[in-house]
Amino acid sequence: MKIRHLQLFTATLASAWMSTALAVDPWIVIGHKAPDTDSITAAIAVAQLKTRIGQAAIATAQGEPNAETHYVLETCGLKAPEVIRSVAGRQVFLVDHSDYPLAPDDMKKAELVGFVDHHKLGGLTSEKPVEVWAQPVGSSATVIARMYAAANQPVPKDIACGMLAAILSDTVVFKSPTTTPEDRATATKLAEIAGIQDMQALGIKMFEVKSDIKGTPVAKLLRQDLKDFDMNGKKVAVAQLEMMDLSALSLRKPELLQAMNEMKLSGYHSVLLMLTDIMKEGTELLVLSDDPARIQTAIKATLRDNAVWLPGVMSRKKQIIPDLEVAFKQ
Ligand code: MG
Ligand code: MG
Ligand code: MG
Repeated sequence: MKIRHLQLFTATLASAWMSTALAVDPWIVIGHKAPDTDSITAAIAVAQLKTRIGQAAIATAQGEPNAETHYVLETCGLKAPEVIRSVAGRQVFLVDHSDYPLAPDDMKKAELVGFVDHHKLGGLTSEKPVEVWAQPVGSSATVIARMYAAANQPVPKDIACGMLAAILSDTVVFKSPTTTPEDRATATKLAEIAGIQDMQALGIKMFEVKSDIKGTPVAKLLRQDLKDFDMNGKKVAVAQLEMMDLSALSLRKPELLQAMNEMKLSGYHSVLLMLTDIMKEGTELLVLSDDPARIQTAIKATLRDNAVWLPGVMSRKKQIIPDLEVAFKQ
């Protein structure tokens, strides 16, 4: 009889402990605003890995997938992460960014538990020790492959497909100067796991989807890959459109400048738009700024009618942002 009581008592204790354990919210894994393929697939991959090794985590995103990412998710058989805008009071693992302007607006009211990134650091702080995975490589997916290896966990087939697509997207099919040998090696391994024979073809298909902008309003085009920066107290937006061919966009330049102007009036010091031709490997940069001379100093080129062609420029984070940061400090 006594033993029966003891068993009941232990069972009650265990279930009470279980319900407290279950009541702890899972980590929120989230990428940057205006999510791209790397942000979306990184959230999926990190949430899967964490959950697999015993830390409940959910993949989320600060917006719906863009056309390219939508194609990738469908091709790989992955589900779009839940869209959330607020993270206050939650434990948050950031992916594909590590700065406040790109994080959810109430990030300072959340607890940062870690991040994986391949960009410049941007002033994140934390109250407790955090898990940090950052490398100057072509995509977050390349760093996440290291996380799986360190945890001794296999990358599932569907996630390998998504991570491969993220590398192809971020490195512009290995054409961007951000590409490292590790990105190529990781892509090859992921393609094997995903059973993808021709990764170049997948990359080209993704950029074809991305380049199909017929019927997309200019305001949407401007915002689909836009990043906000705080440059020495000035609010600067740098948007980018990567196209197989710029001719369709060139026709819409007056409309694009109009949309940039509307955005600038909402409180920006400068709004820049990179129209990147991935075949010609260069960028037509459109600029609206309170201080165009400062922008010209940064890009070492002269604007004509708010525009300039920059041969060889393909990467926002490596070829535009660092020079702007320097120019805004002067
Ligand atoms: Mg990104
Ligand atoms: Mg990225
Ligand atoms: Mg990009």
